[in-house]
Amino acid sequence: MIIENLLRETESLRETLIAVRHDLHAHPEIGFEEHRTQKVVREWLHKFGYTPRDSAGTGLVADLCPDSKGPTIALRADMDALPMEETTDLPYRSVNPGRAHKCGHDGHTTILMGAAAALAQCRDTLDGNVRLLFQPAEEGVRGGGARVMVDEGALEGVSEVYGLHSWPAWPKGELRVAAGPVMAQVHTFYISVRGKGGHGSQPQSSRDPILASSHLVTSLQSVVSRGLGFEGGAVVSVCSFNAGTTSNVTPDDARLSGTIRSFSKPTSERVLERMREITQGTANTFGVEVEFEVEEGFPVLVNNSECAEVVARIGEKVLGQGAVSSRDLPMAGGEDFAYYAQNKPSVFFFLGAGIEGEDTPTCHHTDFDFDDDLIPVGIEFFLRIIADRLEDGVVS
Ligand SMILES: [Zn+2]
Ligand SMILES: [Zn+2]
Repeated sequence: MIIENLLRETESLRETLIAVRHDLHAHPEIGFEEHRTQKVVREWLHKFGYTPRDSAGTGLVADLCPDSKGPTIALRADMDALPMEETTDLPYRSVNPGRAHKCGHDGHTTILMGAAAALAQCRDTLDGNVRLLFQPAEEGVRGGGARVMVDEGALEGVSEVYGLHSWPAWPKGELRVAAGPVMAQVHTFYISVRGKGGHGSQPQSSRDPILASSHLVTSLQSVVSRGLGFEGGAVVSVCSFNAGTTSNVTPDDARLSGTIRSFSKPTSERVLERMREITQGTANTFGVEVEFEVEEGFPVLVNNSECAEVVARIGEKVLGQGAVSSRDLPMAGGEDFAYYAQNKPSVFFFLGAGIEGEDTPTCHHTDFDFDDDLIPVGIEFFLRIIADRLEDGVVS
């Protein structure tokens, strides 16, 4: 595989790929509803000689050289949008109400489509296979498309998995990558506090769930500061607090919910243990009943050190020395790429997208838009990864 030829091929597709990205941006679909996106990608893959198969309902898996006896390297892109409004006046803004590409998955999908097109030019020159994973449903509570794809066998025969994310909070032109834990285990918690309501003027006859919940919110702040050692490594945030309907009635109950982020199983177990103790203790103190429910989200994303080294080495070549670091990693976001990394040596890396001197909107901000300059950069990373892993026969 002659990388220069492939990069020239990518360059010739530049305008087409930008048009593809804008089309995906204008037609965002949320988790497991990516029917149009799937169709666009499927048609593109057919055009370049692939035979994609559906996976996880609205995802696709395609092999470059399915009959190859060599190793298989997987490249992954997420395809889903967020359930939010597009408020920009971009010419290609979302035409789907309540749906918007505000995490850049339209860009990631386009990058993998571009890499697929370039790789199709070198089918016969590789000592192995490339598997393209177009994954649905990465975001939020509907997320976990990666787990479904893994369960459906998308990683069978795969040696390594690579994935990327654009990240506007970090400077454009930088690569951030690290070995070990890079993104957090996510738990969502729900607490319902049941007291006894009554007239606001007669507290002696009530069991006030608002007072109990307020103490609970404050006490939960001690879970990390007093429950963990100096190594810390967790976030506990109460993000919703609902109780009452008017100013002179003590309500019967209150409801809290929030998120926990941690980077190892022992830490998350310790955090949950302390939260249970605190909720029970608060219930006893205030004479209320407290129910504590936890929903387990994506696991910790742990990067393989050899794969991380490959990407760092390529980063120096593509972006220059000094542009590669592990600064600000791990971070407390969650990412379902973790399911691939649990199963195979994998690496998830970040391409900075923040413009110097500007307040570039971050992922999930209503003004966010993927930076099209990253399309050829992302493709070059993927192509060089394949060259590195399959040309020299280093992966077995
Ligand atoms: Zn996101
Ligand atoms: Zn994302």
